[in-house]
Amino acid sequence: LSVIDGLTQIPNRRRFDEYLASEWTRHFRSGKPISVVLCDIDFFKRYNDNYGHQAGDDCLQQVAAAIAESARRSSDLAARYGGEEFAVILPETDAEGAFAISEEIRQNIETLKLDHVKSKINDYVTLSSGVATMIPGDDNSPDALVAIADEGLYEAKATGRNRSVGKDLS
Ligand code: GH3
Ligand code: MG
Ligand code: MG
Repeated sequence: LSVIDGLTQIPNRRRFDEYLASEWTRHFRSGKPISVVLCDIDFFKRYNDNYGHQAGDDCLQQVAAAIAESARRSSDLAARYGGEEFAVILPETDAEGAFAISEEIRQNIETLKLDHVKSKINDYVTLSSGVATMIPGDDNSPDALVAIADEGLYEAKATGRNRSVGKDLS
């Protein structure tokens, strides 16, 4: 079974789930915080509709490469979570550090300056991110960590997009 996404050549959802489960166990023992960033491209349906599906695929490849580059520590893992969503696991990273990396990712995407004339908020491709931080314990779980990051992502979309929203549950 493949652990690499065919289009973007970065780890896929299966690898993300696997790595998060193993890192969760490790952090449960150490008592250190672990963070997850969920990123979603803004107005990507409009991008596909305007530039075509092939251009959409090219865009996903460039965004994936930029996100993977931003996850610099050897223990970090950037994955394609599905469609135009990406997820990053940041081991031993507190809320402040994770938010900083999320913003760095967001700025790196803006700096690519991939034309997106149909975006309602910018001339270029942007993304919105939710960041969640927890110290693993009996009252939380990897699924909860991702769900909280997804809540942050939802808020980032609702409050204007092209931004990060952090949730510190550590
Ligand atoms: P929002 O800013 O709220 O995130 O809006 P959005 O348009 O990005 O979100 P929506 O979920 O409405 O649309 C996602 C689009 O992503 C629709 C789908 O066609 C496109 N997409 C998902 N996977 C792929 C893919 O592998 N290749 C291409 N080209 N497009 C994809
Ligand atoms: Mg989406
Ligand atoms: Mg989107």
